[in-house]
This record gives sequence, structure tokens and C-alpha cells, in this order.
Amino acid sequence: MPSDSALRIVWIYPDLLSTYGDQGNVLVLEQRAQRRGIETETIHVRSADPVPETGDIYLIGGGEDRPQILAAARLRRDGGLHRAVNRGAALLAVCAGYQIMGSTFGGEEGQPVDGLGILDIASVRGPARAVGELVAEVDAALGLPTLTGFENHMGVTRLGPGVKPLSRTVKGTGNGDGFEGCYTGHIVGTYLHGPALARNPALADLLLAWRVGGQLAPLDDTRYELLRQERLNTVLAAG
Ligand code: GLN
Repeated sequence: MPSDSALRIVWIYPDLLSTYGDQGNVLVLEQRAQRRGIETETIHVRSADPVPETGDIYLIGGGEDRPQILAAARLRRDGGLHRAVNRGAALLAVCAGYQIMGSTFGGEEGQPVDGLGILDIASVRGPARAVGELVAEVDAALGLPTLTGFENHMGVTRLGPGVKPLSRTVKGTGNGDGFEGCYTGHIVGTYLHGPALARNPALADLLLAWRVGGQLAPLDDTRYELLRQERLNTVLAAG
């Protein structure tokens, strides 16, 4: 039985949105908290269930167009995620989940579909699928190392003044404007799979630090670093 002070991680709609191992983001967050002695409680919220408002960190993944449209409609109706982020919860939204957080996104025929309006972004269906490895340099204000990951999406995302670009693309497409992802407050949106937090554990620590506060104890990240270096060397060597 987790204690009341456990860090509550909420994994939204695993039955609709979890492509390319996005559920690994949950495991990485749990593990990096627990290795520092922080107790965690994870809640898997299926799409028929209400989204709890009292979580600390919310995670949502990528998916095909139809489950994405269904997820957007259910999350809009539910309202729990909106209330949670208004209370200061952290959120990592990946690919389809990222697009859903905006005002609108393109459906399977390119039709505009309403998003949640949690992020000041708008997405449309682009002319070509962006698929492959992605490398990007993170906004210096966040102090994170180079991002690495895998993308596969048709969506092109335009950022409004209410968000900042998360990173500048070195390889790959990201938002489609030379940048990848965005952030504001305690919310990060990204096109990266891999899963993103296994490829970029510093991003997991950013989410943890936002909720736990203070300085997080350093961890032995040798194995993460080997994976990162292998991916970065391979992708950048490919020219
Ligand atoms: N269906 C969306 C797109 O193609 C998101 C894809 C994904 O989540 N991998 O843009």
C-alpha cells in the first residue's frame, strides 16, 4: 500500500496511446524516483476510466489517427487532465499525445479535430511522413544534454507565443519548423519515442525535479549513456 506522500505517476490511456514503447517512460520515471528513495504509485487510466486530478506526473503516448481522435474526445469530456495541470502537475505528452494537447490537430483525412487547448500549439497533417531518428539541442534554459529519439508522424506542429521550443533539430523533423517539441510551466510536449525517457534520462529528472523540488541525487547512468552514445554516433555518422 503506497503512503499518502508517494509520488503519483498517471499513465493515460494505455489502451489507445502507447506506440514504440512509450510505456517505458513510466518505468524509467518510477525507477529513477525509487533509486533515490522516493516512493511511487502508478495509476494506469484506461480510456473508459476518469482521469484523477491529484497525480504528480502525467504521461501520455503516441498512437494511430483514430485512437488519437477518440482519446482527444474522451479527455475533453473528462476534464481531469486539464484540472490536474491547472493544479501544477507535470505532464510529458508524446507525439499523438503532444498534438492532442494543442487547440487542434489533423485527423486521418486531414480534417481539423479539436484538442484540449492545454498547450498553445496547433497541428495539421503535413505533406509527408516524418520517420526516423531525431537528434536535437535542448533550449539552454533547461540545461539538458542533446535529445535523441525516434519519430514517426504525419503531423506538423506550429507553436504559439504561450510555449517555447523544447529543442532545435539537428537531425530529423520534429515540429517541422526547425524545432522539436515545446515546453511551458511543468509541461513538455515532444515527438520523441524510443522511449523518450530511456533515451534521455535527464528529461525524466526534469519532470521529477519539478514535482519533488530541490537537487536530485546523481545516479549511475552508465548504461543509459552507452545507449545514448551508440545512437548519437550512429545517427550523426550517417550524415
Ligand atoms: N497520428 C499522429 C500523426 O501521424 C501521431 C502519430 C504518432 O503518435 N506516432 O501525426
